[in-house]
Amino acid sequence: MASIYFIGLGHMGAPMAQNLLKAGHDVTVFDLNVNAMQQLEDMGAATVSSIEQGVEGVDFIISMLPAGKHVKAVYLGEEGLVHHIDKKSLVIDCSTIASTDAQAVATVLQENGIRFIDAPVSGGVAGAAAGTLTFITGGKSADVDQAQVVLKSMGHHVFHAGDVGAGQIAKICNNMLLSVLMIGTSEALQLGADHGLDPKVLSEIMRNSSGGNWTLEKYNPCPGVMPQAPSSNEYQGGFMVDLMAKDLGLAMETALNSGSTTPMGALARSFYTQHQRAGQGEKDFSSIFELFQK
Ligand code: NAD
Repeated sequence: MASIYFIGLGHMGAPMAQNLLKAGHDVTVFDLNVNAMQQLEDMGAATVSSIEQGVEGVDFIISMLPAGKHVKAVYLGEEGLVHHIDKKSLVIDCSTIASTDAQAVATVLQENGIRFIDAPVSGGVAGAAAGTLTFITGGKSADVDQAQVVLKSMGHHVFHAGDVGAGQIAKICNNMLLSVLMIGTSEALQLGADHGLDPKVLSEIMRNSSGGNWTLEKYNPCPGVMPQAPSSNEYQGGFMVDLMAKDLGLAMETALNSGSTTPMGALARSFYTQHQRAGQGEKDFSSIFELFQK
């Protein structure tokens, strides 16, 4: 079993750290929120009172933080962990951040003899709780191989997309595609409903036809079609509009860096930002359906 220092116990990080404990790993945790640390301590984790205290001698350091600025603040700069991390430790950042931020952190760590992989996740809070996340990694093969033991304690699939930063790019490509599918499915369902079609019947027709996609299979945006989907629970739970808007912003930055054309992604970002600015940021991202309703 591995010794792990886990930083960031939010919606995702807390259940991920719990699954590491359940798998029998030796886990130390840190978060700025002491209540979040207390919950993990009650389940058997060790806690520390300042961030650098947890790094000593661990096999893995895992971070699950909101955005690139938090990841850079934790690892880099005068106060950063780069000055404290043991050279035998492998750093695994699971946050969703810009690939350029992941590469910037990796470069400084590597200059100090410390190994880093990016490993953003797909699967949301439900996948984190169930231990069924998908990890999309970027880094050296040997480091990704070494990380398998801990990643498989929190998820089912570990993909290796390429060098450091490639995990973030693959994750952003996936989420951009998902947003486009969600918006397209929403407008098609509403078009049918406006012509008197039953959304359940139309969903079943499209699911089994050439328009079939993941949102129709698992995550129908129209209330009442799938009882277990967030749309049938007032769009609570699931993956927040705020996070989709953040990921689409990252997708646009990524496209600018490479000169790629992403017209559908740009439109999807405008839709999600509009929805967010209308005060819907905390709803599930399938609530974009509401933009099309009468
Ligand atoms: P969250 O805001 O719930 O949790 C982040 C945690 O980090 C908080 O507990 C916060 O106190 C802590 N934190 C912030 N700065 C810190 C610091 N300097 N030191 C220690 N702790 C610090 O966020 P989340 O929903 O858990 O998401 C985490 C990451 O996972 C994000 O990058 C997000 O985009 C990504 N993600 C989230 C989901 C989801 O459904 N929530 C799905 C896939 C990926």
